Amino acid sequence: MRIGGIKEYSFHRPVIATVPLLTVCRVVYVSSATATSAPTLIIDQEINPHVDKWEEEGMFPAHKIFKVLGNAGFLGVSKPVEYGGLGLDFSYSLAVAEELGNIDCGGIPMAIGVQSDMATPALARFGSDELKKEFLQPSIAGDLVACLGVSEVGAGSDVASIKTKAVRDGDEYVITGGKMWTTSGAQADWMCLLANTSEGLPHKNKSLICLPMNLPGVHVARKIDKIGMKSSDTAEVFFDDVRVPCKNVIGQEGMGFTYQMLQFQEERLWGVANILTMMERVIQETIGYTRQRKIFGLPVLYHQTVHFRLAELQTEVELLRALLHQATALYIRGNDVTKMASMAKLKAGRLARELGDSCLQYWGGMGFTSDVLVSRFYRDSRLMSIGAGADEVMLSIICKYMDTLPRK
Ligand SMILES: Cc1cc2nc3c(=O)[nH]c(=O)nc-3n(C[C@H](O)[C@H](O)[C@H](O)COP(=O)(O)OP(=O)(O)OC[C@H]3O[C@@H](n4cnc5c(N)ncnc54)[C@H](O)[C@@H]3O)c2cc1C
Repeated sequence: MRIGGIKEYSFHRPVIATVPLLTVCRVVYVSSATATSAPTLIIDQEINPHVDKWEEEGMFPAHKIFKVLGNAGFLGVSKPVEYGGLGLDFSYSLAVAEELGNIDCGGIPMAIGVQSDMATPALARFGSDELKKEFLQPSIAGDLVACLGVSEVGAGSDVASIKTKAVRDGDEYVITGGKMWTTSGAQADWMCLLANTSEGLPHKNKSLICLPMNLPGVHVARKIDKIGMKSSDTAEVFFDDVRVPCKNVIGQEGMGFTYQMLQFQEERLWGVANILTMMERVIQETIGYTRQRKIFGLPVLYHQTVHFRLAELQTEVELLRALLHQATALYIRGNDVTKMASMAKLKAGRLARELGDSCLQYWGGMGFTSDVLVSRFYRDSRLMSIGAGADEVMLSIICKYMDTLPRK
């Protein structure tokens, strides 16, 4: 909406219909008209026209884009109103995540997701009022860029084995170590850092700490070159005796591993919601292209193997959406959905790989160029089976809940 020549975007509550279904209460959110007009406007006007340039440059201007999103309320949809959030439940965040799938690449939505639903849930839930005022409120407003420092060079899947240490010295921690694969790490103002704060058991010796990135001893060593997610900067960061006040610890010292595992639930559901829209767009673009491209006297689409395959893929997308909505409905009612979120993340990663591969094939040589959405999706979506816990990690979690892991 334009007011007096200044662009203003506002959030409209998505339509939520609650449908009791057997014992499960299911939320169906309608991600159309009312829910999505504002993000669509921002995407069309502020983001998509520049995506090709940012992909080429290997970075997008997070401060500028987050300010626009923050002004419209999209960075704190399910965050407390006292800190500038909209105070809505998590299903609304997922409605926004689905809408952000209309951005013409995977990298920018991923960085937005890190800001709104991956680096900040633990802070919002367990952080002190002082910490929330210093880090959460400006992140929701889009004034600060956040990143999440969990993975390290020697510890990705095995989060418990991280080596970064925060050792108490008076009322400060002295931090040594480093983080790898940090999304937005090259331009972030603060990091939600997971570090060992004692020598105890690996699930009980870690804490999450709000770490300003401009402190002496924080070194952004390099921006990592990647095959996809190119417009999102991914950094390697070192900590050389970085001093941070102990009051920057989120919640209770020693609870960091548990908080991070909870934080992962939202991260994984957010990732699934976001990629669903991209998958549908790739199917639709493939239908459009193959309908007009003729081979052997017929549109490519009219060959049964092609339209049957696309129908199969669309069916899988709908199944994934149903699982996501079921998990979300349970989650917003306070249930632990670790198993379902892991299933949805696993399925999303596998389906994205199949869908990207099949659709790219039907574009022929055009699919092998960098100019089309399908090839960007093919490269970007490969991360879904690796980041935020690889497929095998998801399988291990599901097996744990099924009680099928070998007993020691
Ligand atoms: C573009 C990008 C952005 C990222 N952003 C962030 C971020 O912002 N913050 C952050 O903290 N991290 C981030 N990550 C890190 C990401 O979460 C890790 O890459 C991921 O957790 C996997 O860890 P790893 O790369 O160390 O792989 P490893 O732990 O070395 O695992 C290698 C492979 O081993 C296999 N494997 C794992 N577990 C098992 C098992 N139990 N059984 C059998 N096989 C198994 C899997 O196939 C896995 O891919 C990002 C990564 C990328 C590439």
